[in-house]
Amino acid sequence: MKLGDLEFHIIVAGQLRLDGGAMFGVIPRTMWERKMPPDARHRITLAMNCLLIHTAGKCILVETGAGNKLDPKLREIYGVDGPHLTDGLQKYGVRLEDVDIVINTHLHFDHCGGNTRVENDKIVPAFPNATYIVQKGEVEHATRPNERDRASYFPENFAPLQAAGLFSLIEGDTVVAPGVELIRAPGHTADMQCVKLTGGGKTAFFFADLVPTTAHLPLPWIMGYDLYPMTTLENKKRWIPQVVREGWLALFAHDPRVPAAYLRDRDGKWEPEPLTID
Ligand SMILES: [Zn+2]
Repeated sequence: MKLGDLEFHIIVAGQLRLDGGAMFGVIPRTMWERKMPPDARHRITLAMNCLLIHTAGKCILVETGAGNKLDPKLREIYGVDGPHLTDGLQKYGVRLEDVDIVINTHLHFDHCGGNTRVENDKIVPAFPNATYIVQKGEVEHATRPNERDRASYFPENFAPLQAAGLFSLIEGDTVVAPGVELIRAPGHTADMQCVKLTGGGKTAFFFADLVPTTAHLPLPWIMGYDLYPMTTLENKKRWIPQVVREGWLALFAHDPRVPAAYLRDRDGKWEPEPLTID
């Protein structure tokens, strides 16, 4: 997919399974199970969609999936399964050392697990030449999570980067490369960020966990995981209508079937019109 001089691809860094009830918050199961049928353990299948961006000579990766460090027990609980991020990068001829910038929308394990990898029994940065860009508040929170979200933050995904000085911490909306703007959109966490790509008069908007799948487009369909659901609601009201009105391409971090779609307003209901991009 090209936006002027900016080119991007969607790389699926595997799948995971999460409790359907937790994924849809106050929405009754009778409603969500029609859109995303659960397995025998009440889990729905989600993708971990990443973006590979080339702009102005820079190679940028948005999200790194769950990575390869989860122990067998956790892999089983979360139903984490291939393909791997590295296979996806290889497909486009990108080696780990070629990546200049890694963007994590937030530091939950399913968004930053591939930040680091195991080498000779040591955990090392997976992208040795990259600057990892995260909101400052997100890193601060990740290092001292609370009782409610502790299970989502694994220090091995970010502590080695802090130690190696590879983090670039930003505060608020920031342009990090030509056509790549990070937009702080709290709700899921206090400092989650979305990614806005622009070029050639076109725009694509990566919702991260503000709208994780197309099933989450209706305003009340908000994850039970969200720390600040009313803030999620405010940010959904701010960003979804803009994406619809301005004809931006919507990108979904966790949708297993529709990672990219244009959104149409049909009698007050937002409907995805899927777009296949490689
Ligand atoms: Zn998350």
